[in-house]
Amino acid sequence: MPLNPQRTIDELKELRALTSDEQGAQRVAWTDTWLKAREWFASKLTGLPVEHHYDAAGNNWVTLPGASDKSLLIGGHLDSVPNGGWLDGSLNVLAALEVLRRFNEEFRGKPPVTIRVVDWADEEGARFGRSLLGSSAFAGTHSIAADRVRTDRDGIKLEDALRRCGVDIDRFPEAAAERKNAAAYLELHIEQGPVLERLNLPLGAVLGTKGVERHLITFHGQEAHSGSTPMQDRRDALAAAAKLALEIRNIARKHPDAVCTMGSVKTFPGIVTAVVGRCEATLDQRDLDPQVLAQMFREAQEASRRFAEEEKCTVEWSRIWNIEPIAFHPMLLDLCEQSIREVSGTSHRMPSGPLHDAAEVSRAGIPTVMLFVQSLRGISHNKIEDTREDHLALCVQALDRLASKTAAWILHNS
Ligand SMILES: [Zn+2]
Repeated sequence: MPLNPQRTIDELKELRALTSDEQGAQRVAWTDTWLKAREWFASKLTGLPVEHHYDAAGNNWVTLPGASDKSLLIGGHLDSVPNGGWLDGSLNVLAALEVLRRFNEEFRGKPPVTIRVVDWADEEGARFGRSLLGSSAFAGTHSIAADRVRTDRDGIKLEDALRRCGVDIDRFPEAAAERKNAAAYLELHIEQGPVLERLNLPLGAVLGTKGVERHLITFHGQEAHSGSTPMQDRRDALAAAAKLALEIRNIARKHPDAVCTMGSVKTFPGIVTAVVGRCEATLDQRDLDPQVLAQMFREAQEASRRFAEEEKCTVEWSRIWNIEPIAFHPMLLDLCEQSIREVSGTSHRMPSGPLHDAAEVSRAGIPTVMLFVQSLRGISHNKIEDTREDHLALCVQALDRLASKTAAWILHNS
């Protein structure tokens, strides 16, 4: 049998049985369960004419050499969040392996281009708060100084946790060597949102990953006694933050795919008998269009100053983190849509709100595209994460077709 999507579904269930408990998947990067998942994956390579190694950042590479050195990369991540789902990341890796097997069978061990499956190390950043760790080392966008000092909840340092798994953070830059001959990168992923389910579509072609502006906004007012301070004399920092929390929804709603979130609000002194003197709020804004993102950022700043003034407060902003929007390759996006249409009869283009390893690969200048499959109830990072099995089979088929078309495109371009 050339391509066997049922095998992917069976293997996903096997992995779930091996690495989950009652709370969900426990394949957190740099833990024993994660190592067990990788060992299990390696056992699936027996009998295939592939080269298998871990790079300097702990990324897991499986290479089926082709007639051309030009390589088609297909990737995902076996790591999960704690109490995670069975599909996030693993579907990508196991579907990629199935596509590699099909190339191997169809071309009797020598496909026209080299096929490489990659299982990125620590996509989730669940333990050390640093997502896309392995893929950023590959892309050369990683900072050793910034990451070395990170600690987990138990105070264990990132560099020590990595060393335990045989990875030396000082050698991270060597992972960039894997970029040699990389001609294209494909990543299948569950959508992790409700859009495809609402449209009643199994699959979507991903336009790119949204840019993110992440800020800490601090309103300064005046701490005062809650009993003795008349309403008109208050400088209530929470009141200004509360107005902004509602306004960012209006700012986002002007654009079809934009999202703005105030995810955390802290009040000081934070007691029941005091007017809030200081309020710290976080803002996360995302869109695929850099101009929309810039406009939303400007509007949020203006609104914060207006509300601060209305409440006789002051406001200051400091950037926590940001990343520019990353648009995927237009030609690969066309091939992705064609593939989806061939297996499901219809297609849809959509941006990705979450970041993925594909964003780092694309930043490294490698033509990239992603394919989404519907998530039931739009839920992910949760043990109830699920996708219909017929949709899982369809997405393996679509990835396979996309891989064939991309391989032809690579040959045509070289
Ligand atoms: Zn993922």
